[in-house]
Amino acid sequence: MRRWRRWIDPTFTNPELEEKYNEAYLEENISISRISLVVWQCANVALIGMDYLLSGSGRLFLFLLGLRLTVFAYFFILTRFLGKVKEVSRYQQTLFYSICIGVGVFLLINLTRPPTYLQHSVIDVIGVLCIYLVFPNQFLFRLIPALLLTAGSILLYIFVKTGLGPGIILVTLVSYGLVNFLGLLVSARLYRARRTEYRSHVAEQAAQAKIARLAMQDDLTGIANRRHFYRQAEAEFAHFHRSKQPLTLLMLDLDHFKRINDQYGHGVGDAVLIRFTQYVSTQIRQEDLLGRVGGEEFAILLRDATIDQAKTIGERIRAGVAQLPIFGGDDADRFTVSIGIATAEDADASFDVLFGRADKALYLAKQDGRNRVAIAAPVVSEGKGRNE
Ligand code: GH3
Ligand code: MG
Ligand code: MG
Repeated sequence: MRRWRRWIDPTFTNPELEEKYNEAYLEENISISRISLVVWQCANVALIGMDYLLSGSGRLFLFLLGLRLTVFAYFFILTRFLGKVKEVSRYQQTLFYSICIGVGVFLLINLTRPPTYLQHSVIDVIGVLCIYLVFPNQFLFRLIPALLLTAGSILLYIFVKTGLGPGIILVTLVSYGLVNFLGLLVSARLYRARRTEYRSHVAEQAAQAKIARLAMQDDLTGIANRRHFYRQAEAEFAHFHRSKQPLTLLMLDLDHFKRINDQYGHGVGDAVLIRFTQYVSTQIRQEDLLGRVGGEEFAILLRDATIDQAKTIGERIRAGVAQLPIFGGDDADRFTVSIGIATAEDADASFDVLFGRADKALYLAKQDGRNRVAIAAPVVSEGKGRNE
């Protein structure tokens, strides 16, 4: 788009952003429009007095009175209707056509009034400025009715009410030109400022969403960090107590991870952690929750999974991890994981208790030689964890 066009029509070049902007400002725009319609119609009704003064109580007056009251009734209904509109395009189009009708009626009134009356009708010029300012529609929606009123008035002055003289016509031309220029300038600045404000509002929202996302994520692996995992898990646990749907927790700890760091360096250790979480992510469902709860310790919360299903998943992860290569390490070298599983029970007073039981099972898996899955004993039996 040409530069001047961009200047007077400050819409976003991104149509999606423009649409969102219009939606965000819909309510505000409608209230501006409603207020301006009320002001316009107050002026319309007030001019009935002028009609009476200048045309007496004859047929012309009755005609003007009827016209003004009809327009008043139409805009009264329109004002009520706009209050209920929820769609941007509906709002813009309704307002546009209504203003065009208003402009038409305005010109018709001027056509029927005596020429002496026209000399006093400064209100027409104010009408043009109002159209630019108070109808925050798309640019063309403002420009078309404003130019319609301008062109109609000037044609009326030159070709119909011919007795006005060149002085008045010159003043008319200059004032309409000036008011159109001012209207364009002020409305462009106003709506540009609003779009700038909206753009920074959108940028701020995006930044805040990013901060919120980063606060929940683990930096290295991108999965839920300990705090976020805990918060989500506690909510799930509360849901378990209400719904009694099975809820199972898996605790995973990489075996002899210190050795990998010592042997190949921290960078390779980091890569192993990333590869490990990538693999585990592919083995669980979307609704399951995976979190990094320690350096090389992870937890998975399975919704609606029984202990047997959890055991199958745990076993599959354990076997799968044992096949993963160590990028940057020896070709034949592998790493393994130990897993402890506990399923939520009524006796678990809090998520911490469940976490503690899964951690205990993990300890047993380590004790039993690592690269194993161990299941926590049920709370009621008060027995030790049963190793698998
Ligand atoms: P175990 O089989 O008993 O679990 O032995 P382990 O060596 O895995 O256990 P330990 O808890 O003693 O060691 C964990 C190691 O994990 C120590 C720490 O340096 C390493 N570690 C923790 N966080 C990170 C990390 O973000 N990156 C890397 N590369 N290493 C980490
Ligand atoms: Mg470990
Ligand atoms: Mg550890």
